[in-house]
Amino acid sequence: MPFLVRNLVFDYRAAEPAIFAHLLNRLSLNREEVVSWKIVRKGLDARKKKAIRYVYTIEISVCDEAACLAKFADDRDVTPVPETTPKTYTPITTDKEIVIAGMGPAGLFAALRLAEYGLRATIIERGRPVEQRVQDVQSFWDHGILNPESNVQFGEGGAGTFSDGKLTTRIRDENLGYILENLVRFGAPREILCLAKPHIGTDKLRRVVAGIRAELLERGFTIRFSGKLTDIMTRKGQVSGLVLNETEELPCHYLVLATGHSARDTYEMLRKRSIHMERKPFAIGLRVEHPQELINGIQYGDRSASGLPTAEYVLTHHDPETDRPVYSFCMCPGGVVMAAASEEGGVVTNGMSSFQRNSPFANSALVVAVGEKDFPGSHPFAGIEFQRSLEQKAFAAGNFSYYAPAQNLLDFASGKGFHDVRSTYRPGIVPVDLAEILPKDVALALKAGVRQFDRKMKGFLTVEASLTGVETRTSAPVRIVRDDTCQSVSLPGLFPAGEGAGYAGGIMSAAVDGIRVADSIVRDLCLK
Ligand SMILES: Cc1cc2nc3c(=O)[nH]c(=O)nc-3n(C[C@H](O)[C@H](O)[C@H](O)COP(=O)(O)OP(=O)(O)OC[C@H]3O[C@@H](n4cnc5c(N)ncnc54)[C@H](O)[C@@H]3O)c2cc1C
Repeated sequence: MPFLVRNLVFDYRAAEPAIFAHLLNRLSLNREEVVSWKIVRKGLDARKKKAIRYVYTIEISVCDEAACLAKFADDRDVTPVPETTPKTYTPITTDKEIVIAGMGPAGLFAALRLAEYGLRATIIERGRPVEQRVQDVQSFWDHGILNPESNVQFGEGGAGTFSDGKLTTRIRDENLGYILENLVRFGAPREILCLAKPHIGTDKLRRVVAGIRAELLERGFTIRFSGKLTDIMTRKGQVSGLVLNETEELPCHYLVLATGHSARDTYEMLRKRSIHMERKPFAIGLRVEHPQELINGIQYGDRSASGLPTAEYVLTHHDPETDRPVYSFCMCPGGVVMAAASEEGGVVTNGMSSFQRNSPFANSALVVAVGEKDFPGSHPFAGIEFQRSLEQKAFAAGNFSYYAPAQNLLDFASGKGFHDVRSTYRPGIVPVDLAEILPKDVALALKAGVRQFDRKMKGFLTVEASLTGVETRTSAPVRIVRDDTCQSVSLPGLFPAGEGAGYAGGIMSAAVDGIRVADSIVRDLCLK
């Protein structure tokens, strides 16, 4: 049985032969005694700029493993690889129709899991296939022509398709490894299996999404692009079907609702059908953009980051004056700021990077937690209205043209000055005082946060950085309440899933939730 050796620390420039030599030394082994070895985890430790290192976990097989393990019995860093029983999927046959609405990570992984059991489903997706979606998005960025059904939020691959493709998550779940392995199977780089902070990049993510589509078609799934769920049909208090594009009726017993956090019209439809929903706190703010070299310099003491990955940061602060958390979110090293609206008449910012993270700029959202104080009342859509009003304010400030309001970071923090503003955001920017667009508390908390961040990362608050706004689509402002079988508490047969349902935040956790819902459908089928 192979075993793991943890906490092997090397200078970031160390090459594989040096790592192997150290491993032999660490375990008092000769080269001939080793059958195989591989790196299973690699995390960067850049806390000390003069001693930047990687911390590795290595899996190794040797000729006499029992003897080797016995020798290190008291060493907590040398342990057998935990035994796992591979999951088995007993094929299921059924005449019950399953429909999945939405082809983001939740919908796609629900479909892949159903396919493991030999099940098939119809997938409906309001947007277009990823290849055409890329053209629609490009046209929006180049000319400010928004397609409300095919954009950064809507279309094959879901909201994260135009992203940095960060695969980090705070949740723990047995399916995380399964998801990463599947992403690799469909074209993601193998390194995501071992990096502590893996990312795919928008370029590779698009290929992965197309690969999953091909697999699902091969497994007998039906995919209906430009197919929007516009109503749900019921019989005897259960889901009996759905309406597609307001005209076509599709019968179904199980409806997976994986429509994401931006499908405001779909939330409206659910409300008309008396589906129980609750409003949910989220976060809003602005996107900050620095020269990447400046961030490299702060984080590594080396502006060129030679031999190192493009530098990232995570910043948090609690502002005592407004009593609000302020934090950086969705950081995109070597990326661009982008227009991410899905509704006409609103400006929304976000960020993305390619796998190489090789743009000369670094961006991240700087956001402040918002909730009841900001959108009082019990209406489940109070948060959506709050988001929408800010997006419309930004649209007006950007001359009603999807130009984003923008300001130099130094001017925003000090509340004065007219320094240059530069941004990678397209179609373009309009210089304004961003504090006038944001709610007062949010602006105050952000100003305080930026000053604190400059203490943690000297040079963060600089004339070289700019802000664009508004960043409003950080997570779902609504939860579609479900029971412990993952079904809506109002309508059996309806399985809200992923970020839009309010049960996930990010690519990995949305995929995990899609799998959870698929497993729940499988359990239900087995009971019947
Ligand atoms: C620009 C951007 C960058 C991001 N970067 C990252 C990142 O780097 N890492 C990370 O972990 N997370 C990131 N996220 C968040 C991540 O994308 C989401 O958490 C994740 O995509 C949620 O998955 P989902 O499947 O629940 O919903 P979504 O991905 O939103 O997918 C929902 C799908 O449903 C479709 N749909 C909506 N309404 C209907 C309807 N009525 N009928 C049919 N289809 C419908 C939509 O077109 C969409 O394809 C980013 C998000 C954005 C917007």
